Order: sequence, then C-alpha cells, then structure tokens
Amino acid sequence: MAKAIFLGTGASTAVPVINCRCKVCRSDSKYNKRLRPSVLIEKNRKKILIDVGPDIRMQAVRYKIKKIDVLILTHAHFDHMAGIDDLRVFNRIQKEPLRCYLLRETFKEVKIKYDHFFKKNLKHHTQGARFDFHVLDDKKHTFRFDDISFEYFSYFQDSKKVLGVRIDNFAYLTDIKRYDDNILKKLTNLDVLVVSALRHKKSDVHFNIKEALEFIKKIKPKKAYLTHLGHEIEYFSDSKKLLENVSLAYDGLELKF
Ligand SMILES: [Zn+2]
Ligand SMILES: [Zn+2]
Repeated sequence: MAKAIFLGTGASTAVPVINCRCKVCRSDSKYNKRLRPSVLIEKNRKKILIDVGPDIRMQAVRYKIKKIDVLILTHAHFDHMAGIDDLRVFNRIQKEPLRCYLLRETFKEVKIKYDHFFKKNLKHHTQGARFDFHVLDDKKHTFRFDDISFEYFSYFQDSKKVLGVRIDNFAYLTDIKRYDDNILKKLTNLDVLVVSALRHKKSDVHFNIKEALEFIKKIKPKKAYLTHLGHEIEYFSDSKKLLENVSLAYDGLELKF
C-alpha cells in the first residue's frame, strides 16, 4: 500500500494569481487555492517527492515533511524546480546528498542553471544543497530505489522533454502536450492516473481539459485526477464538466493506491 499527497495542484503562476480579481482568485474555498504542482508519495516508509517548485518551503511546513528519500524532477521549468535550493535543510537533517532522478536533457539544464550544486567548498554558501544525481537512460524504462521500483517514460511540452513516472498502479504525468503512442503501453491497468490540464481554452504547451479527457479515455484508468490547474478553472462548477471517473485534484488531496 502506498499513499500520494498533492502538495500543489496549480499552474505556474499558482492560484490566486498576483493582483488578479477574477472569481476563482477571489474565492475563499480551499479547493480554489493552488500552490505550484508537486506530489509526495509514501511507500515502504520511504518518501518520494515529485518536483520542487517555488512553494516547497511552505508545502514542507504545511504537510510536516520530515525527510525526503528520493526527488524526481520532471523537467527544469521554474514551477517544477525553483525551490530546489530549499532542500538543503534535508541535507542537514539526513546528513547525506539527496538522491535525484531526472532525464539527461533536464540534467543538462540543471548544470547550467544551478552550477553551484557542482562546485566544491561551498560550506558557508546558503545555496549549498547537495544532490546525488541519477540520470535516466532513454533506452531503459525502470529504476529501483531500495525495495521500490519505478517505471518511467517521456513526452513533450512544446520542444521540452518531460519525465513521467509510474509506481505500482499510480502514474503521474505533468506538463504534457505531445506524446508518442508508445507511452500508452506503459499506462495500462492503472488505478490512478494524474495528468495535467491547464484550462478549457487551448494552450500551445499544455493539454486543455478536453485534451486531458481524451487522453484519459485512451488510457482507461479506474480513476483520474487533473492537476496543474490555472485560475480559469473553478473547482465546483468545472468538476461537473468532467467524466464519471475524473476529478479535479486539489492541494492536500490524499490518495491510497
Ligand atoms: Zn484570477
Ligand atoms: Zn508546469
């Protein structure tokens, strides 16, 4: 048995958006408040964090995260990794570099954007987070950590390659726009599929709700959740416009699988 908790379900600006007066941004409901997208999975007493956006400090405090065993980075965009320096606190707690799995393309970007991770003698530097990077090979489709096995695959957001993961019967695919039908084979017999959908209107870099529902129909999971939601999505009214086995995710949602 494993558990997933959604630390954030918002699009890159989060919801409410700075200085926005729209109905969703003014909503008092917790279902309409969304931090940057991230999920924490607990399995066999291990904690697996998928993505580390700029809200991670607040998310770690809110959900009382005491340790992280594995970090999975889906891609190197701001809303998915801008909080990575804050993970240095876990280096101090755990007294070891944090194990991180990522695609080769993402690793290349990390080396440029976060060059301080690769410098020695940063003892007194506030950005001295330490990682044990494991670059995922395109030709392989699985990796193991301890007694947990992961399946992985990639797809595209515009020209950027993004990593998707499956643990048991749970799969998480964020920032998807284009994909090769090959990935469908890896997504059979799912209990839970999490997929991103930005809004109703078309986007060049994200599925909209319609595209996400079409994707879900192909995969036929028992249950699907939409995440990475923009402020155009109102939880209560838009929940009614989905399929029977599909729900909008919200911050704090917990699932067992
Ligand atoms: Zn708004
Ligand atoms: Zn994103």
